[in-house]
Amino acid sequence: MLDKLSDSLKEAVRKIAMANKIDKHTVDEIVRDIQRALIQADVKISLVKVLSERIRERSLKEKMVLNPREHVIKVVYEELMNILGKAIDVPLTAQKIMMVGLHGTGKTSTCAKLARYFQKKGLKPAVICADVYRPAASDQLRQLCDKMGVPFYDGAELPEGKSVVGIVEAGVKEFDKHDVKIIDTAGRHALEEEMIEEIRAIRKEVAPEQRILVLDASIGQQASVQARAFDDAIGITGIIITKMDGTAKGGGALSAVSETNSGIAFVGTGETVNDLEKFESDRFVSRLLGMGDIKSLIEMAEESLTEEDIDADILKGKFTLNDLYNQLEALKKMGPFKKLMEMLPLGGLGVNIDDSMYQVTEDKLKAFKVIMDSMTKDERNEPKIIDGSRVKRIARGSGTTTAEVSELIKYHKMMQKMMKSMSSGRGKMPMMKGMPLAKMMKGLK
Ligand code: GDP
Ligand code: MG
Repeated sequence: MLDKLSDSLKEAVRKIAMANKIDKHTVDEIVRDIQRALIQADVKISLVKVLSERIRERSLKEKMVLNPREHVIKVVYEELMNILGKAIDVPLTAQKIMMVGLHGTGKTSTCAKLARYFQKKGLKPAVICADVYRPAASDQLRQLCDKMGVPFYDGAELPEGKSVVGIVEAGVKEFDKHDVKIIDTAGRHALEEEMIEEIRAIRKEVAPEQRILVLDASIGQQASVQARAFDDAIGITGIIITKMDGTAKGGGALSAVSETNSGIAFVGTGETVNDLEKFESDRFVSRLLGMGDIKSLIEMAEESLTEEDIDADILKGKFTLNDLYNQLEALKKMGPFKKLMEMLPLGGLGVNIDDSMYQVTEDKLKAFKVIMDSMTKDERNEPKIIDGSRVKRIARGSGTTTAEVSELIKYHKMMQKMMKSMSSGRGKMPMMKGMPLAKMMKGLK
């Protein structure tokens, strides 16, 4: 989804991370790259201009709490979030959802996808088809519903000449015991008065809590025109942008919606009933920038880390065995280490970490503590002075084996290598210069 835009934005982030210095020249170059990427994705020029100005302004003038590279990345992240549309939450409660939109945008397929979504969340959905103009539409939806075991109603048994509103009312009654009633409506090729009258009538008689507009991503920035027109007609509560998988213009559609009163609830990413994603702007932008799931990462770090977990010595570039111990303890608090590493920006730190590193257990930490207690202060501060005879002495003194002592030293070496690559590594993560893991994650707000 939006691969081209994402590739260009990732490249911009890489440039920031690799920059020797963040100055006007660098920021200008990055802004130009981002502009080009957004315009290719059909984002409106005026929006791109505002975003560019804000990135320039904030990157160079705003007071920094992070190092300059992190600061710029954070600014880009926040500004993209600003233009890429607000997210709307469709609650997981009993409700009626009416789907509207022009012909061919994906209303019928999305009805089935939504039913699947609620079904997966443990609710009982049912689908009502109010498209009396195309019998094929009704068959298409019935088949999809049958496959999922979702009940379906299209008023087939009602007398000839049934009205659309009549069908919807009968359907709502039929599915009295179902939580979520999803109503498919007929579209037209253009915004015609006839269609508007029809959806207005359904709205008036059935009072659906949600009125969702389905838009095809390939219309790009034109999305705002349709969003406004449908909002004027029936009051849109949320938007679903479909076919994000098949067009480069999705960025334009998303940003156009951000200029209207409406917000985006879901995006459609393919033709099967499972190809529907809840839209969350922060997660969406993290992914576009190739920065893992930054929000989850920050949440995890904030929940489990306190200021004391961050050791000032590491900030000065020193990394002793005591630091290792504190870092491992802090990381253990945050839960599965492996998962955490995978969520880090740009797919981890670019350092290959031994699988054993991921298993920092309580017992292991205790053993490390005992071993460290048998070391001299010099050894703890400068572990590289620990040679074979020292290893033997420490093992004897702590009642452990030389293998266990060596393991601790191996851990330290790996962690130190990781810290080094963070502070100097080319093509790794230079933006984390001198920052321990925990501190870095706190900074990326
Ligand atoms: P409607 O006229 O608004 O009811 O549109 P339909 O639901 O019949 O969809 C029109 C076409 O778009 C169908 O061929 C769907 O399979 C396709 N479609 C809908 N949503 C998506 C999507 O998210 N991705 C892709 N690739 N195709 C989609
Ligand atoms: Mg349809």
